[in-house]
Amino acid sequence: MRIDPRDVAICVAEDPEAPGGREGPVAGPEPAAPPIVQSSLFAFPTLGALFEGLGSEHRTSVYTRGRNPTVGEVERRIAALERGEACLCFGSGMAATSAVMLGLLRAGDHVLFVNDTYGPTLQLAEHLGRFGISHDLVLETDPAAVERALRPATRLVWLESPGTMRFRVLDIAAVADVARARGILTGIDNSWATPLCQKPIELGVDLVMHTASKYLGGHSDLIAGAVVSTAERIEEIFYRAYLLNGGILGPFDAWLLLRGIRTLPVRLRQHEADALAVAAFLRDHPAVRRVFHPSLAEGEEARLVERQLAGTTGLLSFELADGSFESVRRVIDALRRFRIGVSWGGVESLVISPNRGTNGERLDALGIPRGLIRLSVGLEGADLLIEDLAAALAPLA
Ligand SMILES: *Cc1c(COP(=O)(O)O)cnc(C)c1O
Repeated sequence: MRIDPRDVAICVAEDPEAPGGREGPVAGPEPAAPPIVQSSLFAFPTLGALFEGLGSEHRTSVYTRGRNPTVGEVERRIAALERGEACLCFGSGMAATSAVMLGLLRAGDHVLFVNDTYGPTLQLAEHLGRFGISHDLVLETDPAAVERALRPATRLVWLESPGTMRFRVLDIAAVADVARARGILTGIDNSWATPLCQKPIELGVDLVMHTASKYLGGHSDLIAGAVVSTAERIEEIFYRAYLLNGGILGPFDAWLLLRGIRTLPVRLRQHEADALAVAAFLRDHPAVRRVFHPSLAEGEEARLVERQLAGTTGLLSFELADGSFESVRRVIDALRRFRIGVSWGGVESLVISPNRGTNGERLDALGIPRGLIRLSVGLEGADLLIEDLAAALAPLA
């Protein structure tokens, strides 16, 4: 993993070069950990000053549904990590995605989703159909296929790379170029890679979204989301969706997120190393047909991985040679170290399968193998995890 030393500084301490500096000065020597400003409102010296604050609520703490200093601190760090001008944090990744869609789209607009896309994001797109916003999903990852799928009404191209479940990588800069040439905005869910491994704004993407519930938080103790873009577009989202949807991140959860981000570089290096060991073990196992992880990409995709990703992370999947639901269930239930649950990116290893035993046709339509098992490799140590997988897979070999 090639982490930019500047990113380590932003995560671990405060970036001394960050514009604006720390909000909410604390009297006396500075605390080493950022303070939690657990206040719903901020009092002003005069009525005039309050009204002035209300007139510039995107940059003044008036009410915590708008600006709050602890939330502002984490937003500044995420913006700096993504090399973007501004960031807004939300109460979840889905609140972040919803704010982008509701803040920037209108009836008649079309959204094109590219690559394997997080399920609830597609459910949100379905829901937006009620407001006159249509969408399509292209599973092909080459830029020419994306270009063919654009419509005159397309206003936003929403990418995932690496994509959900199969972690396929696409050429982000090429797709951003195709969209920009037609005046279409691009957004990306950058949660898998985190800003330490991939910086989509530098590749020409307009909006970067994160679920901070995964690696950024990193300890399975908070739900949060973020959007990074230009200051102008973030202000637009702030007034149209952030303040009005009200899906904000509370100061305490913002503080937990700051705490998580401080160890992000060191956690990610270990997640990467252990996931590579687990992936190598699975790749050589006779009961496994295929392992899905960007480190195992081939041909043109491998060149993209090398160029776009400064490292890989700990979420991967594999396909059982015997793809029956019964085998998927047996292997998962036999695991002892991997806990069975949704989500990923925490210190504890997790396992899940998209195969519920009843949704085979839906999986086929999405190109997801029925024998797919997803692992989030935590920080227990690769040896222990591999031993566990070996025991669970042994009856199938
Ligand atoms: C979990 C997840 C989300 C949604 O984030 P929440 O914080 O759970 O709302 C979005 N995208 C991806 C890829 C995810 O894994």
